[in-house]
Formats: sequence, structure tokens, C-alpha cells
Amino acid sequence: MSPTASAPPAPPVAKTIAGIRSIVKDARAHGARVALAPTMGALHDGHLALVRRARELADLVIVSIFVNPLQFGPNEDFDRYPRTWDADLEALAALTADNTDGGAFSDHAEGAPPRRLVVFAPGVDEMYPDGPTQTRISGGDVAALFEGESRPGHFDGMLTVVAKLLNSVQPDAAMFGQKDAQQAFLVRRMVTDLNLPVAIEAVPTVREADGLALSSRNRYLSDDARREAVTLSAALQEVAAAAPRGTAEALAAGRARVEASSAVKLDYLAIVDPQTFRSVDERYRGPALALIAARVDGTRLIDNATVVLRSAG
Ligand code: AMP
Repeated sequence: MSPTASAPPAPPVAKTIAGIRSIVKDARAHGARVALAPTMGALHDGHLALVRRARELADLVIVSIFVNPLQFGPNEDFDRYPRTWDADLEALAALTADNTDGGAFSDHAEGAPPRRLVVFAPGVDEMYPDGPTQTRISGGDVAALFEGESRPGHFDGMLTVVAKLLNSVQPDAAMFGQKDAQQAFLVRRMVTDLNLPVAIEAVPTVREADGLALSSRNRYLSDDARREAVTLSAALQEVAAAAPRGTAEALAAGRARVEASSAVKLDYLAIVDPQTFRSVDERYRGPALALIAARVDGTRLIDNATVVLRSAG
């Protein structure tokens, strides 16, 4: 869509690390708090929830848009990953609407630090000028489970770029979606393990009306596959409903829901302890995280939900 006369002005875009650092330095000189919402673009309402939360916490909100080659496996969709730059800028501009100054929020109070949104969109050459970095962050054992088992190296690539983004921006807070629960867990642990001075905020999953978690990959789904994709969240609801009867029954109920849909190929369904991200056993009681990953007509989708387990006995 081309911008019209009435469209809100696009937010400013920094393409270099030096550029974003100078914007942050300037904002900090005015007392601004800074929050970062890292994304790979193809923005939807889930991403915008991160931006809204960032806006509650900070004066300067930085939305990074970077499709990170390091976290894609050789047979994954890096080249095919949706890139929707113009629409992304329009969506972000709409959040800062009713301003003539691109990127400025309308709720700025007299005398307070300027409140604005800036996009940080480095190219691959800016982030990896010497090719893929030799130095990598390792997420350890948990990075090899679940998503890590299906996508070897994914979390190390993700943690490495998150570390680079945090170091480039040096925000007070960084936003991550609960939709990618294992990612949020590993980022929190990296921040703790490496004493990074940033608060990690997990933002609740934004869903379609039928329960499907919003994802940039949903646009790969055909109409038929889109109808079947609700299976993931529906299975999690079955797990939650059966959770008072214990882990085994809860998992069986979820699996039965997946098996009812021939178009959905289950990768994993698990219930983990949110403190350790390890599968719980039958003795576990209390809040836990149910995780699901499945292929719907070739598109790999993930979801999760909090469930409350109580042993059957
Ligand atoms: P991505 O662009 O897919 O790397 O996602 C960027 C951030 O947005 C990650 O922290 C995701 O967890 C988060 N996110 C993606 N989808 C959703 C959603 N449906 N609800 C909330 N956060 C989301």
C-alpha cells in the first residue's frame, strides 16, 4: 500500500549500530528510559503487543527488525521468510499516529523526556560484517530440547543475535513474546547467567478469534490448513482441561485432539516445569507449561499454554 496524504508519518529508521547508539545516547541525555522489542519483521498484532508494552515501560521504544540468518537451519525458510517492510513501517506509524513528527507518541507530557518510537533495521552486513560470528552464545542443555531438537543450532543463533542487539541498544528493558516460551526462558537465563543489565518482559500471546496464536508463518497457510491450524491451541485447551487429573491424562487428551486432525503432524507435545523447562512427571503439582509443535500442511507452528497439574491420586 502506498502512503496517502492522511497516513501517519513513518517512524525514523536507524540502519547502523552507530546510528542507533547515538539516538539512544541522545535520548538518555534527556532522561529517557529505553525499551527494545526485537522482531524479524512481518509484523502482526502479537509484535504490536510487545511495542505497546514497551511504550508503557519506556520513553524511547526501539523496534528492531532483523531476519537473523544465524538462527535458521540450512533447510529452513530464511530466504522464504516473509519480508513486509512497507507494511511494517505503516503498522508502527499507526501506533504513533496523530503526530506530524514521525515516531513521536502523542502522550508526551510537558517537561518529560521525548517519547518516541525508532526502528532499528540493520542489514546482515552490519550485524555480521565478517560473516557468521565465530563467538556464539550457547543456551546449554535446554537449548537442545523441544524446538532445539527439531532446529539444531536455532537457539544459539537466536541468543547470539539477542546479545548483539542488547549490546547495540543497551535498553533498560527488552520485550519477548510468551508465544515463544522456550526462547523467553533461554533469554532470561542468558541475562541472569551473563549479568546483562536489562529487564526481560514476557508479553502474553496474542491470538486469532478461534485461538490460533498469531505468527508471521501463518501467512504460509492455505485456507484449508488455516482451518486445521486451530488444532494446536485446541489441543492445549484439552491438556489444560485434563490437567487436574495429572500429567499422563493431560498429555493423552492433547494427543487425542491432534490425532483427530489428519492434516496436523505432531512434532512434540510436552508439559514442562516453568522454572527448569524440563518435562514434569506424574508427581508434579501446580502451574506448568504445556508446549506443542506441529506441521500443518508443511508449515511448522508452535504454541504453549499454562496448565495447572494435580496428581490423580
Ligand atoms: P519474531 O518476529 O517471530 O521473531 O517474533 C518477535 C517477537 O514477537 C518474539 O519475542 C515473539 O515471541 C513475539 N511474538 C510473536 N508472535 C506473538 C504472539 N502471537 N503474541 C505475542 N508475542 C508474539
